[in-house]
Amino acid sequence: RDRGISMRIGVNAGSLEKDLQKKYGEPTPAALVESALRHVDHLDRLDFQEFKVSVKASDVFMAVAAYRQLAKEIEQPLHLGITEAGGLRSGTVKSSVGLGALLMEGIGDTLRISLAADPVEEIKVGFDLLKSLRLRSKGVNFIACPSCSRQNFDVVATMNELENRVDDLLTPLDVAVIGCVVNGPGEAREAELGLTGGSPQNLIYIDGKPASKVTNDNLIDQLEELIRNKAAEKQTQLDQLLAKD
Ligand code: SF4
Repeated sequence: RDRGISMRIGVNAGSLEKDLQKKYGEPTPAALVESALRHVDHLDRLDFQEFKVSVKASDVFMAVAAYRQLAKEIEQPLHLGITEAGGLRSGTVKSSVGLGALLMEGIGDTLRISLAADPVEEIKVGFDLLKSLRLRSKGVNFIACPSCSRQNFDVVATMNELENRVDDLLTPLDVAVIGCVVNGPGEAREAELGLTGGSPQNLIYIDGKPASKVTNDNLIDQLEELIRNKAAEKQTQLDQLLAKD
């Protein structure tokens, strides 16, 4: 308090107080909540309110039930997390299921994706989760088909490369990358920039309208350039709107 530093009460199913372990026999949502309330009460008595609370468990059901209960009991912000969730793939799925359910109910103020992986991936997964729930919109939101034998360009390779290349962009932008005309035009029309596979040339849509044709030669380079140009144009518009406000 003297230094204006906030803190987090971090209750974890793996390190519950001994008396609560004895009372409940095993970690349960009620045990996590009771532990959290103890600490909240302690800080209340010290008249310190600059804190948030987490009740993490590696079990998705336990964590979700604990957060739901705690959200009914206290006013303070909640920090969400599925602790020790696993590696990049399994941890992403577990965290998305648990945190996604809570966030869709309006529960949660901050979050951490805990992965046994490069910490940079935690940030990316967390941001993608917020983007998919429309709670944040920074950066490119890709819409891509899973690809199949009808694709007119290599959708998977194109997507993987593009995602890495435009990772630095912060302007919100919907970009559709669809392998053929089955779903291409529909998705491309909805996006701000769309690519639909076609033969002999692929079709580019800008703001829902057919704009130009591109071949498979240097397709990724061409797309990156289009995305960067569109993002720059949109950022200028956003800046102008902000300046008006
Ligand atoms: S849009 Fe075309 S290429 Fe993509 S999955 Fe559907 S049919 Fe296959």
